[in-house]
Amino acid sequence: MNLLSNRINKLATSATLAMAAKTRELKAAGRDIIGLSLGEPDFNVPDFIKEAAIEGIHQNYSSYSPVNGYQDLREAISLKFKRDNHLDYKPNQIVVSTGAKQSLANITLVMLNPGDEVILPAPYWVSYSDLVKIADGEPIEVPTNIESDFKITPDQLEAAITDKTKLIIFSSPCNPTGSVYSRAELEGLAKVILKHPNLFVVSDEIYEHINFVGTHASIATIPGMYERTITVNGVSKAFAMTGWRIGYIGAPQWIADACNKIQGQITSGANSIAQRATIAAVLAPVNSVKYMVDAFKTRRDLVLALLGEIPGIKTNVPEGAFYVFPDVSSFFGKTLRGKKIENSDDFSMYLLEEANVATVTGDAFGSKDCIRISYAASTEELTEALKRIREALS
Ligand code: PMP
Ligand code: GLU
Repeated sequence: MNLLSNRINKLATSATLAMAAKTRELKAAGRDIIGLSLGEPDFNVPDFIKEAAIEGIHQNYSSYSPVNGYQDLREAISLKFKRDNHLDYKPNQIVVSTGAKQSLANITLVMLNPGDEVILPAPYWVSYSDLVKIADGEPIEVPTNIESDFKITPDQLEAAITDKTKLIIFSSPCNPTGSVYSRAELEGLAKVILKHPNLFVVSDEIYEHINFVGTHASIATIPGMYERTITVNGVSKAFAMTGWRIGYIGAPQWIADACNKIQGQITSGANSIAQRATIAAVLAPVNSVKYMVDAFKTRRDLVLALLGEIPGIKTNVPEGAFYVFPDVSSFFGKTLRGKKIENSDDFSMYLLEEANVATVTGDAFGSKDCIRISYAASTEELTEALKRIREALS
């Protein structure tokens, strides 16, 4: 008899967090590792947000908050949705959670029955597929490639839909590819989705502000899609608040109510002080974090230029987030420094062992030909890391 549940036995460990843990371990043992595995801004939390948290402590925000978040926080998020996304979510259609990861977990748990299928355009963010499995759903990967900028087409979507399809989950800007869907592209997908009345979209917009092409489109604004979309967002990325653990959704009332209900049984709601700080974050003018976005763009250009000098590596041009997802398949089958590279796991491990650079295997994101490099690191670290990678591959 299994002492642990089948549920946990069928899950993979989060590859991003596993690589981050390995990096910490190797660094503690004295290895000079440059960590480009974790998608985590290297900036400090802006002072005005820290002050709002301190104010929250002084004002004794120390009791349980409402399960779905403080009313004034949900009012602030409602304003943010209107201001940035032209989306009208009333405060009671918003559920604040312990990170967007929990928002996503709430959604899969409340939306899926055993055997329900969830379309994941691949590459997809690492946790989507396991969050679907936790809820006994079936992840259905739809592969894309570098030639289509890793974006799914309406025809591909149509072909993947069956009478069991319940959700499609995607991020734009995308982790891990940096691809950004234009409004026209989303309209093409929406046309297909609207033909299937029981199909819902989880639109993960957590990288909304880290966008180098300027325009962010929310699929829920497309006529007919509001009732079919759960919009996910959070403060981890744009405000460098990863450890504060606040994410949120805007959704049709019945879905928000279901998420509220499950959260009431699992966490009772998100951390009170982080919620107070989030009011300041979401109400701040968007240009208050532009300095970070500008820095990410400079780093993207640097990384693309340096990767471009390494023969055998192919990349798309990421338009947002802070990752590049190079295709490294030309190295498969080769032996480097006595080590055989068969796949992206081997390639990423080779870089860790021989270049002292931590990346994440593309396999974890549903793409066997690529690896993910996070450029949420200083230009000095990125320059040194890419130099080491070039040397290890030469
Ligand atoms: N979605 C995507 C696409 C992400 O990259 C992340 C990164 N952690 C999350 C959701 C979860 O974010 P968090 O739980 O930190 O809010
Ligand atoms: N989203 C980040 C990443 O993809 C943080 C790690 C995680 O939440 O799994 O690396």
